[in-house]
This record gives sequence, structure tokens and C-alpha cells, in this order.
Amino acid sequence: MIQNILKQKVVGVDLGYEKTTYAIVDVRGNEVAKADFPTTDYPDINAYISHLSNKIVELVEANGGYESIRSVGISSPSGNYLTGCIEYSPNLPWKGQIPLAAMMRDRLGLAVAVGNDAHVRALGESAFGSAHGMKDFILVVLGHGFGSCFFSNGHPHLGYAGFAGEIGHNCYKVDGRSCGCGHKGCYESYCAGRGVLQTAEELLAASDEPSLMRGVSDLTPKLISDFCDQGDRLAIEVYRRTGEILGFILGNYASVINPEAIILTGGITKAGKWLLEPTNETFEKVVFHNIEGKVKILTSSLADEERDVLGASVLAWSVKEYSLFK
Ligand SMILES: [Zn+2]
Repeated sequence: MIQNILKQKVVGVDLGYEKTTYAIVDVRGNEVAKADFPTTDYPDINAYISHLSNKIVELVEANGGYESIRSVGISSPSGNYLTGCIEYSPNLPWKGQIPLAAMMRDRLGLAVAVGNDAHVRALGESAFGSAHGMKDFILVVLGHGFGSCFFSNGHPHLGYAGFAGEIGHNCYKVDGRSCGCGHKGCYESYCAGRGVLQTAEELLAASDEPSLMRGVSDLTPKLISDFCDQGDRLAIEVYRRTGEILGFILGNYASVINPEAIILTGGITKAGKWLLEPTNETFEKVVFHNIEGKVKILTSSLADEERDVLGASVLAWSVKEYSLFK
């Protein structure tokens, strides 16, 4: 009983491609302590697990001790809540199926939950951000990839095997652009980072129209949106096309799900109105008439890093406590 009263904190971990951030979070969502290290320093999974466990123990011992920690939640690309594994991530250095939750639990002696980064982000938005108080919404992550989560009746909709909600890997064009998942024509290959750049390349190649994008050797989606702010017509057209395709898929899914809102997160959404206006316009054209004008398309109110660690802490509360002696 005393133990339960003491255990009012969890550890939230955001495993990102470049950086791993971990924090001790109390029951009210306050970050008690936080630190990070480069994920890329650990191309071997065993070395990564060992380092992450040691760093968590260090942070916990310096901030209230092991007895105060109930459990651990980890947000990971290709994480599967139902299996606790990272499942064949195309972009992480560790290949195949990685039993992350079991490996961390064995090291730490604490219950560990693993979730897909988009699902965890939805938990974070629901508990602390733009989706606060909403039971039904769609969350989209537009960055390197196109992740998404259907938050349904207060929970991420997981589907039969935990892979539900992949809007980004629906097919926009048969035999279209190559996607990181191995298929062709996915929405991800038009709306996420590389897709935006490919649209820019195609537009530049199709005309001689002057543009600030011409001759820039390392063009980025952020630079393109800066050029939009400067009135560059072709740059504006890049995001208009991106938004048109995004609005099309979101309108179709909103007709299936009937969400209260769609929360857009990730680097690409920082383009703001250049992306959102064409997205909204196409969305309203294609969405089912009974919900036309009734779905809020919002951008996140939280900083990515803060929200993802907090979301992982929400995930941590969802697992049963673990004990070797039970
Ligand atoms: Zn794909």
C-alpha cells in the first residue's frame, strides 16, 4: 500500500531517429527531470538498450529514487503497443522485430509499454494539447514520414494487430512515386518531406519560370516555406499541390471516421497557411456533406519534444505494474 502511494511518477521516453529524450513525469504531467542523447550513436540495439537503461537509472536515482517510479512508456517509430516491439522500421538502424518493451523491462525491473510515435503523439495531444477533452480525432504527423492515428472513443484505435491508422501508406497513384515502405504511390511520397522536395523538383523542371528555389543545392521544406513568405509563385505552388493532396485524403478519412478535429503536427505543417489553406479547401470539397464545415483542422499547440515525452508518460500509466514476485 505504501508503495502505491509513493509511485506517483513514470518515465516517458521519446525514441526519435536522431535523438532519444527521456524524462521523469509526475501524475499531473509535470516534468521532474529530463535528459537526452543521440540515438545515432548506438547502431547496435543491445548497446542502445544498455545505454538507455543506465541513463534512466541515473536520472531516477538523482531524482527521488527507484521506489517512486511506477512504469515506463516509450514512443518509437514502428512501435507496436500490442506486441511491445519495434516492427520492421524502414528508417531506424535496427532491423527486423525488436522486443523493446521486454528488453527494457528485464533491464529495469519495471513495466514498460511501447507505442507507435503517432499513437503516442495523439495521447499527448489528448492529455495536454490541442485535442484536450476530445474523444474522437485524427492525428497526423507530417515530417520525414506521414504517420497518423485514429483516436476513437478516448483511445488510439489499434486494429487487429496494432497497425491501424496508416493514412500515409494509402495509395494516391498506382505506380506513382517510390515510398520508403517499398510500395509506390503512397500519400507519404507526396505529402511528407521527400514528397514536398520532389514536387519542387518536378515544378522547376517543367518550366523556366524564375524562382528563389532554383540553384539552391540543399533545398528543404522549411526553405520552400520561407520562399512562400517572400511571394515566390513556384514555392507557393509546391505547398498548394501538397495541401490539395493532403486535403483529399483527410476528407476521405473524415468521412469514414467522423472526427471532431484533425490535428496536424510535424515539420511540414510549419509551412502554416501555405499548406493549410489548400488543405482546407480540398477537404471541404470532398468530405461527406453531413460533416462538411464541422471538422476543425488544427495545428498542434505543443512543442514536439515536450508533447512526445508527455505522451509517452501517458502511455506508461496504461500498463500494469510489474514485479518479479507477482
Ligand atoms: Zn508507403
